[in-house]
Amino acid sequence: MEKIFRKSLLYRSEVEYADFCLNHVEGCSHGCKYPCYAYMMKKRCGIVKTYEDWCSPKIVSNALELLDKEIPKYKDKIKYVHLCFSTDPFMYNQPEVGGLSLKIIDRLNQNSIRCTVLTKGFYPNELANRNGQSTNNEYGITLVSLNEDFRKEFEPNSAPFKDRIKALKNLSSRGFKTWVSMEPYPTPNLIKQDLREILEAVAFVNKIIFGRLNYSVKSSEFKYTKEFYNSLAKVVIKFCKKNNIAYHIKEGTQQ
Ligand code: SF4
Repeated sequence: MEKIFRKSLLYRSEVEYADFCLNHVEGCSHGCKYPCYAYMMKKRCGIVKTYEDWCSPKIVSNALELLDKEIPKYKDKIKYVHLCFSTDPFMYNQPEVGGLSLKIIDRLNQNSIRCTVLTKGFYPNELANRNGQSTNNEYGITLVSLNEDFRKEFEPNSAPFKDRIKALKNLSSRGFKTWVSMEPYPTPNLIKQDLREILEAVAFVNKIIFGRLNYSVKSSEFKYTKEFYNSLAKVVIKFCKKNNIAYHIKEGTQQ
């Protein structure tokens, strides 16, 4: 995998449910076509030229050195560090990325900093064998469907949904905190599906975040977006209350 150098790694996030964040990879082989907000931003800034470029991730080779320098600087300000907003820390079929992510999580935990992690990839078994429970890390997957044809079209190189859920369930059964990001949840003109089935498949998690699809031209062709997301948000809230799951409905999803 190609390598790059960066001058800094940790930064304060502006996302409503996150604190500090880091991205130790440039690009993401999952190549989501919702489209991917990170890809759009990098392309707009000229950092990434093409979709193919974006799908050929480059690892930040000095990530651990940067972390060692930055942790003392920010340690008192950090509640937790999120991995990642503009790449995927457990990219499917990219063991080098996952390996570096494990080292970063360990390094943060050794400094008493907890992590929240989100992936459309696959959590490796060695993570489940770690003594991470005491660190209070939270491990999440993105899940907006159970339909593999949909996944292949919109998240072409991500982990199959069943594998994603299985790996998360494994972490949950070993006492790790787990969560699911149901965002960007697709409108019915993209796929007709039953949200309840998806919720049931992840009823073991501690937290669910639900959010609408924002940047898709196709979704804007759906006339009843407001009514659709309002009613689904109610379904999520009802399900979470019934199953004692924490929830967060992203801003702008309910109107
Ligand atoms: S997994 Fe995340 S970062 Fe990677 S392409 Fe998909 S949306 Fe973008």
